[in-house]
Formats: sequence, structure tokens, C-alpha cells
Amino acid sequence: MKKHNFSAGPSILPDEAIRIASEAVKELNNSGLSLIEISHRSKDFIEIMTKARSLALELLNLENKGYKALFLQGGASLQFLMAAYNLLDQKAGYLNTGSWSTKAIKEAKLFGEVIELASSKDRNFNYIPKDYIIDPNLNYLHITTNNTIFGTQIKSIPESNVPLVADMSSDIFSRNIDFSKFSLIYAGAQKNMGPAGTTLVIIKEDILGKVNRNIPSMLDYRIHIEKDSMFNTPPVFAVYTSMLTLEWIKKNGGINSIEANNNKKAHLIYNEIDSNNLFQGFAAVEDRSLMNVTFNLKDDAHKEIFDKMCKDADISGVNGHRSVGGYRASIYNALDISSVKILVDVMKELKNKV
Ligand SMILES: *Cc1c(COP(=O)(O)O)cnc(C)c1O
Repeated sequence: MKKHNFSAGPSILPDEAIRIASEAVKELNNSGLSLIEISHRSKDFIEIMTKARSLALELLNLENKGYKALFLQGGASLQFLMAAYNLLDQKAGYLNTGSWSTKAIKEAKLFGEVIELASSKDRNFNYIPKDYIIDPNLNYLHITTNNTIFGTQIKSIPESNVPLVADMSSDIFSRNIDFSKFSLIYAGAQKNMGPAGTTLVIIKEDILGKVNRNIPSMLDYRIHIEKDSMFNTPPVFAVYTSMLTLEWIKKNGGINSIEANNNKKAHLIYNEIDSNNLFQGFAAVEDRSLMNVTFNLKDDAHKEIFDKMCKDADISGVNGHRSVGGYRASIYNALDISSVKILVDVMKELKNKV
């Protein structure tokens, strides 16, 4: 039996995507060949890449708006520097909302002046700073829309005339926002879209070509766009499985219906955290993530029994990140609400056991 998978990443994918992807590893489309042993220049794979790219734009409602979708390698971590390499000419602004933002800031500093507009480090990143001024002369403003480790999420997207760059690794395709407000979006696949090994990059073409430096080909968005995301051999398995997940989202009604379901799941578990006096939430209530739910036991003495109850209920992956402690339930798109109910039942049941 499959466990209830609350892992933060790599994380749960739709059953259907896992099933079709595993069949394709044996044989793709009755071709007599495996997905992972055919040329990426074959008709079969070019179709997969084309479909994955167009589905990404379609689901984000960015078709015919000057955007390109790329599937690159190197994880979101490579995007920390690639974004700056391609876009940071003089100075850029960053909102520091957690470990991933901090890493993005560190890399960007190699390319120009970086202004940390605001930070929530003073309270171990348990909230989203809201009071800051956006200098209109910034090359771009970088935000992390969902802070996977701390369990906070930006609910209202900052408004300015400065191009907006976002790390959406852990909440892409989970909620509907106006994606056309962004000039660059990147997301490592392994949180909400596919296996590790590829990173979705959505880029508005008109922001490119404005920096005064030479960019190595592999790190140049323009080269990847020109080559239709096939400048070099793409990670074929990760792209194919991501495509299957995107098809699954579309079949299930697109982002709006996924979001409605995500809201229900988040409501269930936050409601339990707030009403059960054995637990307490980590993140500021108004900034709570719909994807990564961070919470603690009020009394550490209950840890052993709670962990055992989770294990007995086939709940997996709820241990908190080492920089926060406690628990983190990641409730990504593919996690069924029935799994959330099981976790909530265990939390309720703990009251009878202590
Ligand atoms: C996981 C994660 C990353 C790092 O992704 P890699 O693909 O491992 O480089 C960056 N940002 C956020 C928000 C993440 O959740």
C-alpha cells in the first residue's frame, strides 16, 4: 500500500503520472523503445518537449503574451545565479523571506548591487515582511512566493513598475495569480510538478539582452529560447513526467480547481492546529502557506508517541526542516484530501493518548 506522502521535496506526484512514466521507461508509445533510450531529437521526444512547454504556458494563462517556457537543468539553485547573470546590470532588489531567498541573494551579489528590501530573519522567517519601498530604478525585484522550509507564502504580489522575478519552486500551479505580472518565473520540478532534474523557467522575452556582459551559452536564456529548450540534451525523463503532471492538472480542471482543493486541504489542517491545544502553528496566520504547513508540539514529551502514531497510520515525511524543527506537512497538488484527513485524525487522537 502507498503511504500518505507529506514529503517536502522530492515529493508526491499524481498516481497517473507515475504509472504512465514508469510504463514509458519500459516502452514509449508502442515504439519498441524506452523513453530513456531514444534520441531527444526524435519526433516522439520533440512532441513531448513541445507539449510540456505549451501546457505550462496554457495553465498559467500566458499564451500569446510574449512569454517562453523552458525546461532547464541545474535546479532552482542554478536559477539563483542565472537570473542575475541575464538580468542584473546595475542593481536588483530582493525580499529575504527564508533560506532559499538568502541563497538567491548570495549568488546575485556576484553580478551587481543587491538591495535587500526587507527581511523576516529577525523572527526566524515566520512571516512575510510587508512594509518596504521598491526603488523604481531596480533592474528587477526578486521574491520567493512560497517558503518551503518555514511555511510562509506571499499572498499579495508586490506592485511596481520594476520587472518581477519569482522563485515559485514550491507553489507553482497550486493557486491562480496573475502570472503576467512576472517577467521571470522559475521552479524546480521536484516540489509540485515532476521528478528532480529539470527546472521550469517562464520568461518574458522583452527583458532579455539588456545587461552589459558576455553570458556563457549554457547560462544564456536567449540561447535556450532560440534552441527550443534543446540547446543540449534535456533531462528526458523529468520533462516527460512533468508533462504528465501538467496534463493531469489540465484534466482536473486547471489551476482553479486544483486551488479550490488545496484550500480545503490547508483549511482542514490549520483548523486542527488552531483548535487542538497540543499543537501550535509556526508561521504568522496571515502568511500561512497553502503548500507547506509548519507546526510544533507544545510539549516535546509528546513527540515519541505522536511520531509512532504517524508511523502506524502510514504517514510519511512530516518531520520539520532542521532549521525550524517540529513538523512540516507538505500538501502539494497531488496529495489527496483523504491523506490530510488521516493526519488530522491522528492529531485529534493524540489528545486521547496523552
Ligand atoms: C527546493 C527549493 C529550491 C532549491 O531547488 P533545487 O532544485 O534543489 O536547486 C529553491 N527554492 C525553493 C523555494 C525551493 O523550495
